[in-house]
Amino acid sequence: MKKIGIYIMVILVVTIILPTVIVKTFNFVPTGDRLQKNIASSEKIEEDKGKKRKTEKGEFNGNITVYDTRNQQVHEMDLEEYVKCVVAAEMPAEFHIEALKAQAVASRTYAISRTIEYPEGHPDHIAAPICTGIHCQAYFDLDELINIHPSDWAGKYWPKIEEAVDSTKGEVLYYNGEIIEPLYHSTSGGMTEDSMDVFSMDKPYLKSVSSPYEEEAPKFKSIVTLTGDEFIKKLITKYPGSNITKDNLSEKIKLVEKTKSGRIKKIAIDGTVINGRELRDLYELNSTNFTITYNPKTNIVEIQTIGYGHGVGMSQWGANGMAKKDKDYEEILKHYYTGVEIKTIDNGQLKIDN
Ligand SMILES: [Zn+2]
Repeated sequence: MKKIGIYIMVILVVTIILPTVIVKTFNFVPTGDRLQKNIASSEKIEEDKGKKRKTEKGEFNGNITVYDTRNQQVHEMDLEEYVKCVVAAEMPAEFHIEALKAQAVASRTYAISRTIEYPEGHPDHIAAPICTGIHCQAYFDLDELINIHPSDWAGKYWPKIEEAVDSTKGEVLYYNGEIIEPLYHSTSGGMTEDSMDVFSMDKPYLKSVSSPYEEEAPKFKSIVTLTGDEFIKKLITKYPGSNITKDNLSEKIKLVEKTKSGRIKKIAIDGTVINGRELRDLYELNSTNFTITYNPKTNIVEIQTIGYGHGVGMSQWGANGMAKKDKDYEEILKHYYTGVEIKTIDNGQLKIDN
């Protein structure tokens, strides 16, 4: 008699999407006159070390103070020059110019919002309101960008990055009279996430919206493959009290709650309810929008994920898709950030655009 188990495919549907804030790490070594300017600024910062920061909450003077996560130094930088290096680090320069412009406005707004919010330094890096790591926004200086790209990159793409930033100079996103915190991510998988579901943060401009043009995203769909034993070992290591075996997998892992966009918000592991995000972290998944499939015959677990990143705010691949559909950067930003308006800030003085 053949084992019944051989013919039974146990399918666990666990669609989860995960939250992840987008950012990488960078080095801070600008070139040319930028280098000179930044060296001077760095020296000044060194002199000021230990003194109380002069910026008050709610103020912005045109410069931003950045903590370099690699060498633990603090640099004061011109906002627009900083934004160029962030755009180049956060988005492929091959993207449509309107997508790059949308990224420039989002990154500029993010930097200012952090500066205003944390004038005494961010609690996670008290030396400055914003850092160069993925904790805040990725930043690569021009030398580093040149090093990590093919030799013709700078000549081909740096002018495009500069155009994206220069043509939107000073433009930032507002909601209801206040500068917003414009989160963004790589690939939403078709629908973005409500910030409440991911970060327990109720922001009226970070609501779930469709993101229809992401087909070209390399991580639109991904699959993680493990043996049943590996899958269970990881679970039990993380949740030691769980009584989970290959025979009871389908009963012991239960979906509890999905978010509006279909990502996994809560899931029960042998009766213990955890956030979908925890499982994303455990198996290093691209998102919390996932489906787990176990085949007892092959003893293989496949976890398929859709999207890449936390899913909140602007989808970068979605932005590029919209741009290719002839949407301009304002349309892209207003699509992903519900109810916002774009205004121009000039040396701390706000004026309404148009
Ligand atoms: Zn940071």
